[in-house]
Amino acid sequence: MIPVARSVDSLRKRRPEWSPWLAVVDEVQREAMTARWETAVPSGRREMEAAAPLLSGTIVRIDEDAARRMLLRLVDIASRGGTAKMAALRPALGGGLEIAVLFRASLRHDTDTVATLAAAAGADADALQALVSLLAVPFLHACARAWRPAVPMAWMQGYCPICASWPAFAEMRGIERSRMLRCGRCGSEWHGAILRCAYCGNHDHNELATLVAGQNGSTGDVEACRRCRQYVKVLTRLQGCAPREVMLEEMATVDLDIAAIQSGYTRPVGAGRDLDVDVQVAPRVRRLFTGQA
Ligand SMILES: [Zn+2]
Ligand SMILES: [Zn+2]
Repeated sequence: MIPVARSVDSLRKRRPEWSPWLAVVDEVQREAMTARWETAVPSGRREMEAAAPLLSGTIVRIDEDAARRMLLRLVDIASRGGTAKMAALRPALGGGLEIAVLFRASLRHDTDTVATLAAAAGADADALQALVSLLAVPFLHACARAWRPAVPMAWMQGYCPICASWPAFAEMRGIERSRMLRCGRCGSEWHGAILRCAYCGNHDHNELATLVAGQNGSTGDVEACRRCRQYVKVLTRLQGCAPREVMLEEMATVDLDIAAIQSGYTRPVGAGRDLDVDVQVAPRVRRLFTGQA
């Protein structure tokens, strides 16, 4: 039976070869638990419109210094234990970062923009993309905390109602076996329809298959769609994991991904819908000193 990975330390013990990347994930988790990003959550009443996620149509105003510091911290951590391409990122990025552009690219899964900026800086595109994909995660967790009550029970899209990402996996919970989809980016959860493909909406049971990894008594299955040839991991759990644990669960169940890929299926990356969002730098707050004229 594969134990549930609920901490970076437990996953590091099981997969010591992942230690360099887990150090990066650990830092992102710490940042996601702070209140630092809550001021960037777009204000005003959020209401769902049709199939548009809550971030759609918003302007996000980020603390430029906080975002830059976080990205450079991730670069430093990744450089310590990672590849030569990661180590080469720091000097390449030393000349300046278009942080608002990178942050927007992170929100929108926009790999083309990251590749263009990487080429201009002489950095490796894949290495930069790996870190930029995490840049918006603490902010997304702040959005998910603030907007959880605004997500309607009736949201039945396959993608996240907060950030439009495709699910990291589904959870079959408790003895009633309710089915929830989980977002690996913002950690949120939403109802997933049983016997319907999350990606293409196919509900012909003749074209849906359950693949079981069948190794080590895994506590999960893979549900695959023969129509769009894509799959979702389904984890059986008594309770859903905490938002910050979704990323770890996704990594810990890689055996299910391998089984699905070996069976000829793929998992979509990125967003289920283009996220119409703008990112601007928030104006700096001037320090006011008392006692001065
Ligand atoms: Zn999300
Ligand atoms: Zn499908």
